Amino acid sequence: MSANEKITLPGVFGPLKGANGNARITGPCGDTMEFWVKIEDKRIVRCTFTTDGCASSVACGTAACTLAAGAPESVAFELHPEDVLALLPQCPEEEKHCALLAVNTLKAAISDYRKKHCPPEACAACTSKCDSRKEAPRSAQTEADTERLPWVEHKIVVLSGKGGVGKSTVAAHLALALAARGFKTGLLDVDIHGPSVPTLFNLTGVQAKQFNGMIEPVTGCGIELMSTGFLLEHPDQAVIMRGPLKMKVIEQMLQDVDWGVLDYLIVDCPPGTGDEPLSVCQLISNPDGAVIVTTPQELAAADVRKSVQFCRKLNLPILGILENMSGYACPKCGEVTHLFGKNGGMKTAAKYNLAFLGRIPIDPTIGICGDAGQNFLERHNDSPAAQAFEKAVEQIHSALKQGEL
Ligand code: ADP
Repeated sequence: MSANEKITLPGVFGPLKGANGNARITGPCGDTMEFWVKIEDKRIVRCTFTTDGCASSVACGTAACTLAAGAPESVAFELHPEDVLALLPQCPEEEKHCALLAVNTLKAAISDYRKKHCPPEACAACTSKCDSRKEAPRSAQTEADTERLPWVEHKIVVLSGKGGVGKSTVAAHLALALAARGFKTGLLDVDIHGPSVPTLFNLTGVQAKQFNGMIEPVTGCGIELMSTGFLLEHPDQAVIMRGPLKMKVIEQMLQDVDWGVLDYLIVDCPPGTGDEPLSVCQLISNPDGAVIVTTPQELAAADVRKSVQFCRKLNLPILGILENMSGYACPKCGEVTHLFGKNGGMKTAAKYNLAFLGRIPIDPTIGICGDAGQNFLERHNDSPAAQAFEKAVEQIHSALKQGEL
């Protein structure tokens, strides 16, 4: 929108007197939305919002308020960006993320209401957030409504244009390499359809515990871990989840996990550039940047281009491109043979003027260590793969320290 264009503000724009739920979220695009809800008898009596964003942001906020007003709070909580966009057929493609921000902020306002008004007697059985959390020392999260993951210093998302390139393996080993440098590190696996963390850390079948309404991370190889695999009772559950439910699980993982204080949180995003990675990136407050994982083949360049565009659309800084499965490292002598070509990732990084974070060769001992719940970096720290992970982490850490992004 040009600076001279005026937006006529709707009647639902501005703070709401008598509101009993409120939340403010800044999306990765830099827009901040704030929603107020007044809920009586489990129904949204009125809903208002503000945004510092563009005309589409105002339109999406208005549509979300229109849909929520008069609806049972449980129905408003299930609102999907597609519902908002259905009212806005003219919304430009590149601004559709505003609908997600509007819906997420509305949900956060309803969560705020629930947190304050959940009856105390429900606490023992209640798995949602409620007032008693205010007394819990590790959960005094008044800030969490505006800033998710407030005690995490650096948040890094690991992306790939498609599945099977070793994104989860890379995410896990970046986390392990950071922990080896003495950083308190967490790894969040939000890959709903293919949670890998339980397998990579030999923790299949482990269920996350709850304490004071918060989900406790599971510890493995010295890092704090959370995965949809620790939350679902059965692995097939994810496959049949509808969109709103999936978004709810993603939101819960970002909001209700008690990470404590972390230096780094590595987020293993769902593959591709669709709704799921988009939601993850929008729900994390101010991620420091993304690592894009690719393979050396020329064909992979097209997938990287999509990931680069995805990050640019979201204003998400790119920490660099990491080439995985880059040759085969002989487990006996360590010599690396390049089976699928060489330099694909480096050429792509140069093309987009991005940092190249290195090459991780195929090393069968990575999988063997994972199956045994062993730390590959600790046991094989002289291997080319372990050294490549360590170098990548060194590069990422110094870029963040020097504010190079
Ligand atoms: P994605 O998350 O992209 O779907 P995964 O991390 O699950 O991919 O990796 C897919 C498979 O490839 C896994 O079996 C994993 O152990 C293996 N793998 C990934 N990277 C490497 C590597 N550098 N060396 C050996 N095996 C690897």
